Amino acid sequence: PCTDFDVAYFHSYAHVGIHEEMIKDRARTETYKDAITHHQSLIQGKVVVDVGCGTGILSIFCAQAGAKRVYAVDASDIAVQAKEVVKANGLSDKVIVLHGRVEDVEIDEEVDVIISEWMGYMLLYESMLGSVITARDRWLKPGGLILPSHATLYMAPISHSDRYSHSIDFWRNVYGINMSPMMQLAKQCAFEEPSVESISGENVLTWPGVVKHIDCQTITIQELDSVTAKYKLKSIMRAPMHGFAFWFDVEFNGPASSPAKNTGENCAASGSSSIIPSGEGNQKKRTIPSDALLLSTAPEAPPTHWQQTIVYFYDPIDVEQDQVIEGSVTLSQSKENRRFMNIHLEYSSAGRSFVKESVMR
Ligand code: SAH
Repeated sequence: PCTDFDVAYFHSYAHVGIHEEMIKDRARTETYKDAITHHQSLIQGKVVVDVGCGTGILSIFCAQAGAKRVYAVDASDIAVQAKEVVKANGLSDKVIVLHGRVEDVEIDEEVDVIISEWMGYMLLYESMLGSVITARDRWLKPGGLILPSHATLYMAPISHSDRYSHSIDFWRNVYGINMSPMMQLAKQCAFEEPSVESISGENVLTWPGVVKHIDCQTITIQELDSVTAKYKLKSIMRAPMHGFAFWFDVEFNGPASSPAKNTGENCAASGSSSIIPSGEGNQKKRTIPSDALLLSTAPEAPPTHWQQTIVYFYDPIDVEQDQVIEGSVTLSQSKENRRFMNIHLEYSSAGRSFVKESVMR
């Protein structure tokens, strides 16, 4: 059912700014464009659904790549502009804009391709993937193409002293006044909620752990209600640890080159543990086909509007080189609003353990 929260959610996509930000994110938009070109043979003469078309940009790329028909679906009022944009480009006979939710609109044929840009902060924030699954189950032909085809969420502990001093140590001396009584409140306010910001590869203390690997052909909505992963990571250096960073990548693979058979054994799915020790020799990595197109939001990748999401601890913890950091993380849809995400993080290392709960609103 469409809740008030969904109304607010779709309303937020009626503003131009959010579309401008996404389209100007060149890593994002160019990778989608490249993926469409790369899979042109599977798009030419075929029927496509664009789940959440926004301004219509991906639908138009698909029409330009020779799609026979593109259903461009969006529940936000931005669909009004999408329709005009399609018309201005002389594509009204090919691109059919449907102003409604993919859960509600009717499409009277099976489709060959689903394309969608559904990824939120920390991959799963916004819970839009469920709508892609709904579209897949309603309309996609068996063996059809889904772009992107796979997604992986990663986590790693980080050290970020500059950020910590900037928000917290700042209060030690303010114009010569000792304002350190402010520090407790500053920690609460700065670090209670996850924070979307850019870090660099140098902030990262271990090889990343896999929180969740998603095969868009097979994932179910139920699996996304709550995602749990255990982690066990080894610090590559001695440093103050300030929290965990999360980032993701998505792959654009055709049905033929699907790496699905590799994922089980090489990925930490919910419940299983992943040890990703320092030293490349031991690194467990999923095999990604060499011709795969990848959109990465990792700290060392070109910047994107997703940046990285950081869950900070209230106080730093000193870790030694080779110290093992372990625990688990659970990401679940908030009961208060399914677009929000609860993050339950369990940490244990060198005899210390604690839990950090936060909500991404
Ligand atoms: N495809 C565009 C916009 C991506 S943003 C681009 O790449 O630039 C995601 C869009 O999906 C938003 O416009 C949002 O309104 C829409 N959306 C999210 N969930 C939806 C649903 N269930 N049904 C229809 N549209 C949805």
